[in-house]
Amino acid sequence: MKDEIYEELESIVGNENISTREADKIAYGRDSFPLKIMQYRLPAILEQPFPDYIVWVDSIQQISQILKVANRRKIPVIPYGGGAGVNGGIVPLTGGIVIDLKKLRRIEINEESNYVLCQAGVIGQHLEDFLNKKGYTLGHLPSSLTTSTIGGFVANRSAGALSSLYGNIEDMVLDLEVVLPNGKIIHTNKSRVPRKATGPNFNELFIGSEGTLGIITDICLSIKRAPDIREFAGFLFPTLAAGFRAIKKIMNLGIRPSIIRLYEAVEARMVYHIEDIGKEQSYLTLSFDGYEETKEFIEYQKKICTEICLKEGAQDMGPEGGKIWFEHRLDMYYPNPDWIKMNVLADTIDVVTTFDNLENLFYKMKEAIQSKRVNVMAHWSHFYLEGGSMYLIFVMLEKDTEKDPRASRLYKDAWMKGLKACIENGGSISHHHGIGIFRGQFMEQELGPGTFEILKGIKQFLDPNGIMNPGKLGL
Ligand SMILES: Cc1cc2nc3c(=O)[nH]c(=O)nc-3n(C[C@H](O)[C@H](O)[C@H](O)COP(=O)(O)OP(=O)(O)OC[C@H]3O[C@@H](n4cnc5c(N)ncnc54)[C@H](O)[C@@H]3O)c2cc1C
Repeated sequence: MKDEIYEELESIVGNENISTREADKIAYGRDSFPLKIMQYRLPAILEQPFPDYIVWVDSIQQISQILKVANRRKIPVIPYGGGAGVNGGIVPLTGGIVIDLKKLRRIEINEESNYVLCQAGVIGQHLEDFLNKKGYTLGHLPSSLTTSTIGGFVANRSAGALSSLYGNIEDMVLDLEVVLPNGKIIHTNKSRVPRKATGPNFNELFIGSEGTLGIITDICLSIKRAPDIREFAGFLFPTLAAGFRAIKKIMNLGIRPSIIRLYEAVEARMVYHIEDIGKEQSYLTLSFDGYEETKEFIEYQKKICTEICLKEGAQDMGPEGGKIWFEHRLDMYYPNPDWIKMNVLADTIDVVTTFDNLENLFYKMKEAIQSKRVNVMAHWSHFYLEGGSMYLIFVMLEKDTEKDPRASRLYKDAWMKGLKACIENGGSISHHHGIGIFRGQFMEQELGPGTFEILKGIKQFLDPNGIMNPGKLGL
């Protein structure tokens, strides 16, 4: 039945672009948050929050008009990109209007100034294909490239596999067009210049805002010439600490491999099939990007990195491991038949800390989470001069998890213990998966009380009626 809100929305997007069908409500009620996937299998699905309306928009003006309606009526609005977020970011905790942005898919390139204008609903892979055809790359290749939107990458402050060379999404954003909760349309850096000294950087306000401050509709991103060459190298270290030391030395020399991934023994055995790896050992994958004209430069960087690793006692494992991992890096994220058969539930907690704390944080978080029923492994990627991100994976060994209500308790427990151990041991609770629902309760501790007040103040200023994605980012 059409109510008043439906009729107002219908007058903006047309009847064919609005739905209150149950199937759509179920489909738009969750992202790729493993807890939600688990709850969708249980009878608990009946207790899940669903959106009241789903709308598909194809213009900025439609978004602006919808936000004006929602603001006047004080109805929650949830921006929806690819739905590949892993933290429940799009879960409509108090119902409301879900706005699917995937019809916003215009792309325009400016080759003279190395940038691309891209609407928020463009799927990452589509942008990369478009750029590659013209000889360019964004250099942003997260494992969800085929399922996430560019708006989602920005809203969630995402990081791709090649981040050590090309940077994270925030390093690529030149300008954002944002529709504010009151329907106003603004730009964060209209001149699209690479840097300026005109006060605070407003790109940063909306990067990582997870739909709580407005809807990002158009993004200007810096692009670069696509590499002709990507070379791989692999090293087996006697310890984890030796691997970290080698990475720091590489960073200190100003060498920037495109991929730097260090695995502790449990994950290394699984990913690289090194059956006889010792439990203290670690495995490093590096890759080097460049061009025909800089071939010798790549070889030289590889030579120096190899020398550094060998000096740390590593064994040269050759390029094959990394090459195979890169080619198959998306496979393991889609239902792995072996895991389905085993009824294993796994999730990841991505955190970040400084070099002096990388190893300690791993052991502290592992100690907090690991039990007879929960196993832990990890790798480190996305390195900086000062430290890097840890991708901690926990696997629940419980058989038949989806039929066991204890499984969701066990799962939540692992998350809470892990995040608490992270904060208590000097880590930051998210490197690139964002905050969403679970991490929200740690935001005050993470930011510090004074800073969290500023975030709440900004929210209050931009969204006094609290319509934008309520309950996320701890707001
Ligand atoms: C298999 C898999 C692999 C992954 N690998 C990576 C990885 O390598 N690196 C990484 O960083 N992440 C990864 N992720 C997480 C996920 O892909 C990212 O968080 C991504 O940024 C989400 O984009 P999306 O379009 O799917 O956003 P959604 O899930 O649709 O939304 C995510 C959040 O952003 C908000 N939002 C979406 N679009 C907009 C917009 N235009 N304006 C304002 N708010 C908006 C939503 O309301 C929500 O809060 C992975 C996820 C999966 C499932």
